[in-house]
Amino acid sequence: MINQYEMVIGLEIHAELKTQSKIYCSCSTQFGSDPNTQCCPICLGLPGTLPILNEKVVEYAIRAGLAMNCSIATKTKQDRKNYFYPDLPKGYQISQYDQPLCYEGYVEIPLKKGTKKIGIQQIHIEEDAGKLIHTKEGTFIDYNRSGVPLIEIVSKPDLSSPQEAKQYLERIRMILLYIGVSDCKMNEGSLRCDINVSVRKKGDIHYGERTEIKNMNSFSYAVKAIEYEAKRQMQVLEEGKTIIKETRRWDEKSQCTVPMRKKEEAEDYRYFPDPDLPYIYISEEQIERIKESLPELPNEKKQRLMSTYDINGDDAELLIANPKIGQFFEETMMYFSNSLMAVNWIMGEGFRLLAEKDKETEIFPFTAMQFAEFLQLIEDETISNSIGKKVFEKMWNAEESPSHIVERYGWKQISNPQELESIIHEVLSQNQKSVEDYLSGKKVASKALMGQVMKKTKGKANPRKANEILKKRLKEKIS
Ligand code: ADP
Ligand code: MG
Ligand code: ZN
Repeated sequence: MINQYEMVIGLEIHAELKTQSKIYCSCSTQFGSDPNTQCCPICLGLPGTLPILNEKVVEYAIRAGLAMNCSIATKTKQDRKNYFYPDLPKGYQISQYDQPLCYEGYVEIPLKKGTKKIGIQQIHIEEDAGKLIHTKEGTFIDYNRSGVPLIEIVSKPDLSSPQEAKQYLERIRMILLYIGVSDCKMNEGSLRCDINVSVRKKGDIHYGERTEIKNMNSFSYAVKAIEYEAKRQMQVLEEGKTIIKETRRWDEKSQCTVPMRKKEEAEDYRYFPDPDLPYIYISEEQIERIKESLPELPNEKKQRLMSTYDINGDDAELLIANPKIGQFFEETMMYFSNSLMAVNWIMGEGFRLLAEKDKETEIFPFTAMQFAEFLQLIEDETISNSIGKKVFEKMWNAEESPSHIVERYGWKQISNPQELESIIHEVLSQNQKSVEDYLSGKKVASKALMGQVMKKTKGKANPRKANEILKKRLKEKIS
């Protein structure tokens, strides 16, 4: 029975650091240049060259480590990971084997109910390899990426569903963007991950054998790959067979994971300390200085937004995921006090129109002050909610302030009691049928009458006041 099993998932995330130059030479890391225009003897691995470590790489990696609650090693080294592949000209990748720069941390991810801490085993620095380009004419190699600095963030096997894995990936991405160490552009390959998956019977204390799915560069593929792979393993076990420890890849066409090779063990790589690179020493002062330079992190910001503005976790989550919108919201709150109303307009009409009109900019084309003015018009009942939607949309195109828009289109709400009385009087006399329905006990008929009031006023009647008057007049008819 498949539902007797549970999933165990651990991720190894590779993020390209956005330093100006590569990790061991001064070549540019700029993405998208012509192939092999950003290479030198060092990153091409020519004999006789010596690598020199870029200090920024260490600083960025420590930034990431601290943001993910890791301990930072005060002395660490770099190792050679030996293997042969055409995109790796030296025949080895400089990485870190048994002394990672950062270790034993965690990140907290939001779940449907509450949060969960996902352990970080380690974060280490390493160099990227070149890129193979497969074409009809043959395979080409671009070494521009060779020697671009990476951090590898290795989680503990603490994730137990594809959804948790996605939340975790998104959290890591958000943190890296907040602290400014990586662009995290999946389409440019600056964020990729390997997924380790195993399954075991619920309640079992031992982990099952795992497989590794290499090089995922999309969150949605990652979710599908985990779902597929876990189910496949459960079926294998159900048939009484065993899981083979292997490396697989996600095949988008067939929607399957397919075997690539037997999973290599550490000893296959003949790791050894790189004799060309000295130990890296890190002082407590340096760590302290980096710690102090960290910005407000996503979870801290979430807590602050929730307590300062009294909004719920889901809303806060959307605001931290969109920093520009978060900033806009906070600016709005300098001029307007009803946070719930501001959030509702941002999340509702705001996001809807952004997706429709301004997908790229990710921000509204008006100022927070204008938005606050708009909200005030609704709150003090100058305009109704439904007219509000029209004004809001007009704010996209017009240079005008919301009050001017209301003025120009004559959208001011009718709140004057005498004016409303006479409109309602007309509606009641013109809709005898609905009135009779109401009198015979069909209370919903009052809704139809209210609809008529709105129709007559083109949506401009103050709904609260009009409703009050309408109810009063109908009650009078009963008595
Ligand atoms: P390796 O030496 O093969 O790289 P690591 O111990 O470094 O193995 O772990 C790599 C990743 O695999 C980590 O993210 C870890 O959480 C995950 N992992 C380890 N064991 C399991 C398991 N049984 N099931 C799922 N993931 C696992
Ligand atoms: Mg590993
Ligand atoms: Zn170079």
